[in-house]
Amino acid sequence: MRNCLACDGMIVGRIDKKFCDHNCRNAYHNDRNRSSRNYVQKVNRNLARNYRILEDLTENEVAEVTLPVLKAMGFDPQYFTSFVDDDSEGAIFFIYDLSYQQIANNLVIRIKELETYRNSA
Ligand SMILES: [Zn+2]
Repeated sequence: MRNCLACDGMIVGRIDKKFCDHNCRNAYHNDRNRSSRNYVQKVNRNLARNYRILEDLTENEVAEVTLPVLKAMGFDPQYFTSFVDDDSEGAIFFIYDLSYQQIANNLVIRIKELETYRNSA
């Protein structure tokens, strides 16, 4: 005997059925889509916040800031779009076209725009 993936009710009928009916099938897939969409939205929100913070600092010509200060501004270093690990001072993390690098025992954040990074690499 099988149970419906959506409502856990008993399934009557074909052995390969996973849901009681199309309502349960739709509810199940909507839930799954909703939670993966929520996750994507959460990541996007955090990336956007990180980007805004780096952008503000860049616009104010702040090239270095300490990690605690950056975190106090709401920056979450878990969220970045890519990284390169070919710099002797440590990995460089990108958030779109802005990058930051943790130097001096990971306490100082060096912020660079992509063009600056490309020109110095
Ligand atoms: Zn069901």
